[in-house]
Amino acid sequence: MNSVDVAIIGGGPVGVAAALLLADRGCSVRLFERATGVYDLPRAVGMDAEIQRVFQNAGLVDRLRSLTTPIDGAEFVDAEGTRIVGGDIAPGTVGPLGHHPTVMYHQPWLEAMLRDAAVMAGAELHLGVEVFGVGQDDDGVTVETGDGDVRARWVVAADGAGSPIRKALGVAFIDQGFDQDWLVFDVALNGPDPMPRLAQQICDPARPVTVVPGHANFRRWELQLQPGESAEEMTKPDRVWELIGRWLGPDDGELSRAVVYRFHATVAERMRVGRVFLAGDAAHQMPPFLGQGLCSGIRDAANLAWKLDLVRRGLASERLLDSYDEERRPHAVDMVAHAVETGRLIDQLAGRIDSGVGIEAAYGGGREFPYLRHGLVHGDHPRVGKQMPQPIVDGRFFDDRLGHGFALLVRDRSMIPETVERLWSTVDAAIVEVAPPLFDGLLPPRGAVIVRPDRYVAAVVDDADGLTSATEALAARMGLGA
Ligand SMILES: Cc1cc2nc3c(=O)[nH]c(=O)nc-3n(C[C@H](O)[C@H](O)[C@H](O)COP(=O)(O)OP(=O)(O)OC[C@H]3O[C@@H](n4cnc5c(N)ncnc54)[C@H](O)[C@@H]3O)c2cc1C
Repeated sequence: MNSVDVAIIGGGPVGVAAALLLADRGCSVRLFERATGVYDLPRAVGMDAEIQRVFQNAGLVDRLRSLTTPIDGAEFVDAEGTRIVGGDIAPGTVGPLGHHPTVMYHQPWLEAMLRDAAVMAGAELHLGVEVFGVGQDDDGVTVETGDGDVRARWVVAADGAGSPIRKALGVAFIDQGFDQDWLVFDVALNGPDPMPRLAQQICDPARPVTVVPGHANFRRWELQLQPGESAEEMTKPDRVWELIGRWLGPDDGELSRAVVYRFHATVAERMRVGRVFLAGDAAHQMPPFLGQGLCSGIRDAANLAWKLDLVRRGLASERLLDSYDEERRPHAVDMVAHAVETGRLIDQLAGRIDSGVGIEAAYGGGREFPYLRHGLVHGDHPRVGKQMPQPIVDGRFFDDRLGHGFALLVRDRSMIPETVERLWSTVDAAIVEVAPPLFDGLLPPRGAVIVRPDRYVAAVVDDADGLTSATEALAARMGLGA
């Protein structure tokens, strides 16, 4: 029987991103997707800087830039368009992670690029092949596909919101309490976009509306359905144009397929069952008000890729894989909660409900972004569990100096005890000396920062003793040097 390191079920953006990132690290990967083309209904449009960085580190920065357009800010406005709360982003802004804070894209084009990149990286994509089930034992997983059985050491189930694999494994979804029907469509504009390049939540008492500038000539609308309105009636082209008549008419552009989605909020009770890892919408779903559904799925893929690779190469023990669920599930729960409260705030500011949500859940409202609170993180420094900043130095991304693995940032490498250096060398960690002012405020003068392969800060320590303790704690949890 055929055998691979990782079989991936589902060739949506998350499955394909997992295939790309794993193949990029040298894993043998076979992906199965029952459809042949990419899904064409309007879905994701916004990508944050962390995800741009993931693709940058997979060598895709130029291709990504050709498929994305930055946004100029985001706001909550009243029915007349007056800003209630929000923030602007100056053109050309490069945020702390080395990228624009939010860029817009057309999901089918992004998915096509990712498929191409995954194949170029060495992943096998089997399109038009359905998976019927998985059976696991101590040595691996047997994946039953329409093309015969395949044996894999691990499986990533990125089979979408309906996830047959999640159901077959008996993993329940825990409902986070949000269900609303929204009409969603794009307009491909004939001429210049007459509206500002701001994502707007229009808190209209009659009907909350989301309007978002897209990439190229696309503009996205999302309109909340009201009691008594049906998907059939709301998706008729005449009705759609009537609904957005105050902004555009049929002569201004072409309507792409309109669809009614039920926006859910849910997280799987576990993201790992033995050798099978749930990722993307198969593991969590959230209303799209933060533009974080797909971003969260790419975080899953990025989190898993380096861990599976280290275990595959025998450099870490299987216990490292426990940290996938420990890290990603609480992060997803926090993100879903944030997205739900952002959604409730729209209705609240429209005077439709009183949900008690504070204004900080709005764009520019200052609510802290979710971070890794558990897993392979050590100590209580406020930067631990968050993305390491990525300065651009002499026109180059700082990450280029770190390679693909762990990294130790230090002011002077002589502070690193020999035992610590030896332990990190087992996973080819990069030791990078940086001079002030780079990383001022993060890197203590005689200390070190331990950075994970996915560029999350694992530990910030003040001195050699701190580095020894942090290294020992992290190494024990990963089974390094065992
Ligand atoms: C209106 C809307 C707006 C959104 N906006 C944003 C946004 O701005 N930013 C953002 O980050 N996210 C956004 N999202 C969320 C984002 O679109 C999803 O999170 C993302 O598409 C999920 O990707 P996935 O790969 O997990 O799942 P999917 O894209 O659903 O892929 C799953 C794949 O698995 C395949 N499959 C299922 N079962 C099998 C099987 N047995 N065998 C083989 N193949 C199988 C399916 O055919 C499918 O192709 C939005 C969503 C919606 C609906």
